[in-house]
Amino acid sequence: MDYYSNQISRLIEELSRLPGIGAKSAARLAFHLIHMPAEEVKRLAEVMVEARENVKYCSQCCTLTDQEICPICRNESRDHKTIMVVENTRDLAAYEKTGKYNGVYHVLHGAISPMLGIGPGDIKLKELIERLEGDVDEVIVATNSSLEGETTAMYISKLIKPIGTKVSRIASGVPVGGDLEYIDEVTLLRALEGRTEL
Ligand code: ZN
Repeated sequence: MDYYSNQISRLIEELSRLPGIGAKSAARLAFHLIHMPAEEVKRLAEVMVEARENVKYCSQCCTLTDQEICPICRNESRDHKTIMVVENTRDLAAYEKTGKYNGVYHVLHGAISPMLGIGPGDIKLKELIERLEGDVDEVIVATNSSLEGETTAMYISKLIKPIGTKVSRIASGVPVGGDLEYIDEVTLLRALEGRTEL
């Protein structure tokens, strides 16, 4: 890549580290950035740095937020006794978009995967169990229907059953291997309504 200037090469290299960005896309983005008004590029860079610095885990549900407690956990009109467990913040957003779920969430930030070496200690499970010391009626496990999601659901069920809290699993209206974030609202709601006790 030495036919580019050193700075362009560096920009392309950094961009190509991002997920889903191959060498070609990285080059396209790099040239796009260079042709953008300097002010816009500056704003983009600032927003990225600020988000990285300020966004952290909600102290209750572990979702990503720039506040100590996220807006959902702070909302007193929501049902804090029903906790939906999702793999990531994008899945939370998918259920939020339906506007029909009034409970709160717990975001695991991953799923158990022996193949990838991700164990129970690598996701936010301990935090979930700690929440059950409070007043909780039901834990709805809404992990993806992939092998990892199912493994995680089984693990959670085994972990929670002895505590005595009701655990349910969303119905498999969600296609096998399907990521929640790509599924339409009707299917999401059907999966929620058709949940079964684990
Ligand atoms: Zn929260």
